[in-house]
Formats: sequence, C-alpha cells, structure tokens
Amino acid sequence: MLKKSFMGGIHPYDGKDLTKDIPIKAVLPKGELVYPLVQHIGAPAVAVVSVGDKVLAGQKIADAGGFVSAPVHATVSGKIKAIEPRRTVTGDLVMSIVVENDNYYEEIEAAPIKPWEQMTAAQILERIRDAGIVGMGGAGFPTFIKMSPREPDKIDYVIANCAECEPYLTSDYRRMLEEPENLIGGLKVLLSLFVNARGILAVEDNKPACIELLRELTKEEPRIIVKELKTKYPQGAERQLIYATTGRLVNSSMLPADVGCIVSNVDTIITVNRAVTRGKAMMYRVVTVTGDAIASPGNFLVRIGTNYRQLIDEAGGFKKEPAKIISGGPMMGFALFDTDVPTTKTTSALLAFSRDEVSEGGPDACINCGKCVETCPGRVLPRKLADYAEQENEQAFLQYNGMECCECGCCSYVCPARRHLTQSIKSMRRLMLERRKKGETK
Ligand code: SF4
Ligand code: SF4
Repeated sequence: MLKKSFMGGIHPYDGKDLTKDIPIKAVLPKGELVYPLVQHIGAPAVAVVSVGDKVLAGQKIADAGGFVSAPVHATVSGKIKAIEPRRTVTGDLVMSIVVENDNYYEEIEAAPIKPWEQMTAAQILERIRDAGIVGMGGAGFPTFIKMSPREPDKIDYVIANCAECEPYLTSDYRRMLEEPENLIGGLKVLLSLFVNARGILAVEDNKPACIELLRELTKEEPRIIVKELKTKYPQGAERQLIYATTGRLVNSSMLPADVGCIVSNVDTIITVNRAVTRGKAMMYRVVTVTGDAIASPGNFLVRIGTNYRQLIDEAGGFKKEPAKIISGGPMMGFALFDTDVPTTKTTSALLAFSRDEVSEGGPDACINCGKCVETCPGRVLPRKLADYAEQENEQAFLQYNGMECCECGCCSYVCPARRHLTQSIKSMRRLMLERRKKGETK
C-alpha cells in the first residue's frame, strides 16, 4: 500500500526505544503546584479564587479572560497559597496561582451530564470550553474555538494527529496502546460536530502495534479510517499532516478549516472524551521524561502544575551530569536553564542529554551545499531567510515566503556549517506575527 507523506523532511535518530515499552506511570505531586494564567494562546485567564481559599481537584480556579482564552482548574486539593508571578519554562515571569497540596487529592464532584449522543453541538462545545481544553500538541489554542469553524458542514476530515514524529517522544504512542477506546471515543465526539466529516487516525509506520490495534477497533466504524504514514520528521506538523492525509495544501495565511480539515492531537482528543463523557476538567497530560542523562526514562501521567524537578525525581534523577535539558522534543522544544518550573497544559516532554551537540562547534560560514533547501518541508530557502532575518530585512524575508516556515528545525539539523538557521528564522517570524496581530503588516 502507498504510504502517505510530504516533500522534504529528515530521518533523525528517534531515541524512542528508551521509553516506548514502558507503561505510563501516574505521578502524585507533593508540595506546591503552580498554575500559570497563560497556558494557552489568547487572553490570560483571570483568577476566581483568593489566597487562603480551599480548593478541590477539578475545581475552576481561573476563568477565561476573553473569547480566545481558557479557564484553569486545580489538579489537587489544598489551599491557595499565593497568586503571584512565577517563572515558567520559557524563562518568563507569569502571573500564577499557587496551590499548597494537602495530599488528599480530593476531587470535586462532577455535575451529572447526559449522554453525549443526546447533546447538541453547542452543548458539546460548551463542555469542551468549560473543561479548559487547549491543544496539547504544543500550540495551546483553545479547542472549542478550533472546533467551531464558520461552516462546520464544509469540514470533510477530522484528523487525529497520531504521528508523534518528534524524536524521543512516546507519550502519544503509550496513550494509543493503553487507552485506544478513549481516543476513538473522543474522535467520535468530535465527528458529531461535523456531519459531513470522516475521521482519520494518522499514524506513522514506526508504530505498527498502534496501527493494528486502531484498525481492529475501528473496523465497525464507517466514519473512521486509519492512515499509515511514512516515518519522517516533521510528519506531525499540521500542514504536512494535512497534505499527507488528504493531498490538500495549507499556507501560513490559511486555517486547516479553509481546506475542510480539523486537526487535533492524541492527548487533546482523549481529554475531550473525558470532558464530554464524564464531565471532567483538563487536569492531566502524559509527559515523556527521557534522554541519556536520565536514570529511568519513562512516560508519566502528570497533574498539570507539577514541578519539573519532581518529574526528574520520578524518573530516577540524573545518572550523568546533564549538559542540556529541553522542554518538549529535541527538534522543536527549547532549552531549560532552570528546572524549578511547573508543567503546563502544553508540556509534552522533558529531555536531558549529557552532550550538547548544538553548542559544540559552529556556526561557520555557509558552504552553499543546498542541504537546507532540499530538506525544508515548507519549500522555502532557509539559508536566504536566515540571512534576511539576521539583517532584519523584513521586506526580503516576506518576499521569500519566510512566513511559510513551520519552525520544524530540519534545516539546522542538516546544516554542516551548524548555522542557527531555525533560530534566526523563528525570531523573525515571531516579530512578523506580532506585527500582523497589530495590523502593521499582512
Ligand atoms: S526553514 Fe523552517 S520549515 Fe524550512 S526546514 Fe527550516 S525550520 Fe523547517
Ligand atoms: S545547509 Fe548550511 S551550509 Fe548548506 S546551504 Fe544551507 S546554510 Fe549553507
């Protein structure tokens, strides 16, 4: 069978063997949990509790601060200790609610809800919004907005992003193996919002056990198919995934809904299922803790707000001095300078390596080898774009389609001169996106 893919991309060492066969382990956090009020794209959430209040797990502690925003819920029972700026993974100080865990893990009683099959689309969307669900694949876009396109009848595909193409990450892999029925259940809930759509479970071919299991469990589901994709990074990037599964092209000024597609990742769909079928708020996510400096790599079911240091302890601590610690995957994550920060709704992984290959040597002058161009899935010219970004030449950057870069990191990965191509392009894109938001540019 012809396997689906996209142009460009790379095949880095995947490092998944370290954790892929280890079942997910639940972590019970100790001490304080920290909930930044910005864990999503959009307006910051607004605290609805005060210092000294007692809270239960699942209780709303901050409400959405605007239409594009998301509420935040406590994930343990305890007392509000502080509402103050705290350091997050990006190094920024963000206003946060701090809960002192009472170690009873008492959960709020979910209000009775009717079976989702009897709910209207508006009721399902309301549940998704109230549960505080945002995209857990990294972007943190509020899910209820993504699931409310202008013309839902024109959505042809709801694509479950089961690619997990980032090296070392196996949290989605374990989720698919351990609770496939919740993934399929969540996809069915989402399909109920789009009457003309089919569901696609898009899985890379390095996960044959998941493909087999999902095919078996969906053989009686006429609206759901499993698509096997070639293993290639960044197969799970939204635009590449849409192209590989449907042949439809999306550019930086379009939304997937413009080509009849909605994409959501594994953990998000499972969280939707939990919210709509059981009335539960977004409280958990699975985090891969791995790398050659970690003593016992694994996947952990983490209560959002848990400190990164506790995750390192849960994974047996460091067995070697880490030279580099990364939040997220090695291709798109970012280096951490302090591990005393909380996990959030978008934390996918914590990696610790004994060698920092990136900072060893380079950058040198470009040798015009063309490798960056060959591998770029955005079909742009990384070398030129990085030059324009470094020269702060906005006009040329836009003219050479700099906004089509998906920040995948392939160009930096293959560059023999070790130029910081992605980093330069990414900084320029951020600047241009800010400008776009303010209406200063198209
Ligand atoms: S220019 Fe952007 S899309 Fe192209 S390889 Fe580099 S990071 Fe990826
Ligand atoms: S991969 Fe590096 S050295 Fe080769 S053309 Fe691109 S920027 Fe130049």
